[in-house]
Amino acid sequence: MADPVPGELPFLPYGRQSVEEEDIAAVAAVLRGDWLTQGPAVTAFERALAARVGAADAVACANGTAALRLAYAALGIGPGDAVVVPSNTFLATASAARHAGAEVAFADVDPDSGLMGVAEAEAAIARARKAGWRVRALAPVHYAGQTAQMTGAAGLAALAQAEGLALVEDACHAIGTVDLSEGCETPVGAGRAEVEAGSLAVFSFHPVKTIAAGEGGAVTGGDPALMARVRRLCNHGMMRVPEPGEDFADPDAALDAEGNTNPWYYEMAEPGFNHRLSDIHAALVLSQLGRLDRLIERRARLMALYAERLAPLAPLVRPPALVPWCRPAWHLCAARIDFDAALDAGGRTRSAVMTALRGLGIGTQVHYIPVHRQPYWRRRYGDLALPGAMTHYAHTLSLPLFPAMADGDVDRVAAALERVLS
Ligand SMILES: *Cc1c(COP(=O)(O)O)cnc(C)c1O
Repeated sequence: MADPVPGELPFLPYGRQSVEEEDIAAVAAVLRGDWLTQGPAVTAFERALAARVGAADAVACANGTAALRLAYAALGIGPGDAVVVPSNTFLATASAARHAGAEVAFADVDPDSGLMGVAEAEAAIARARKAGWRVRALAPVHYAGQTAQMTGAAGLAALAQAEGLALVEDACHAIGTVDLSEGCETPVGAGRAEVEAGSLAVFSFHPVKTIAAGEGGAVTGGDPALMARVRRLCNHGMMRVPEPGEDFADPDAALDAEGNTNPWYYEMAEPGFNHRLSDIHAALVLSQLGRLDRLIERRARLMALYAERLAPLAPLVRPPALVPWCRPAWHLCAARIDFDAALDAGGRTRSAVMTALRGLGIGTQVHYIPVHRQPYWRRRYGDLALPGAMTHYAHTLSLPLFPAMADGDVDRVAAALERVLS
């Protein structure tokens, strides 16, 4: 960010990383050490992340998109298969499935929360099956930091299990979010043991997300065999040491006369990727992970202030719709604004509102243009009717939310919104 002009208020972007001296020291220590890529910082980060989200294992990788790609590949998703993806997401949730060769069955979302529910997923499954696709997985997106409803009879995990589908939770917005259903508290990313076809969660550590690696991502889960496949695919499909219960396919080449593995030996059972995270990036995100609770608390405080300060602007402006089944670690403050009503009352369009806010030093963004509206997908599938996603899109505007914001910045945003909407 540029230094503020004296007398001018600093620009508030819609999201911003939080980097402290301890993070810089952690990265500098890696640069002075022996490993730049895949060294002790990656291992330490994977252990700390698995512990934080209550997963048996975590595989760190290059970014959230790579994490999605690895998850779909490890589940064996390919041509002829389909993945159910809510249309209110970032491009990557769908593109990664397409890169695996699969079709995307776009699902509608609740227009208020932006989340895919069971009814929307069921409609997408039915449409995909009618098209002759083999539906293999649900990829719910935990939009803005709130989870889709996962547990209980009305949850997506039960639906996945009933339909024989795997689960890939796109938790790029939701590190630190906790599921509250059934009297238990389960961190997002722990994996859903009841889903027999496989259950993985993916995270992104892009700078706008809650903790940053620069570029970084991870896959977490509870099934050791599935996670071993993710780990291998992340590193060229190479196996240097068999997992427990596995053997080398070519023991004559692998083992010496005493039955020890030859020191140079590796074997490839399927082609993989180089989606590795570097130690430089891992040191940054590991250091940030240590502050996650503080960062989440600060975001929660700012969201509570937004709820208060936006209340007088109702019904024109409403804070994000809360769902009862999780304790969110807020990634976005996706306010709901009735732009049509504002325009009818002689106000501005959303575009003009964003420009006017920018003029007042306030950055905003729209999350998201429904992915099924992208030209690529329209060419492939025609015009789908997903009215919930379109309504959500028409009303959403992400307001500044990042830990270094002062309480007074929320007042500033609310006052500016009131001014530019009227
Ligand atoms: C950020 C994001 C991704 C992609 O993560 P990258 O690290 O940018 O590749 C995927 N899905 C969602 C919902 C995201 O917000």
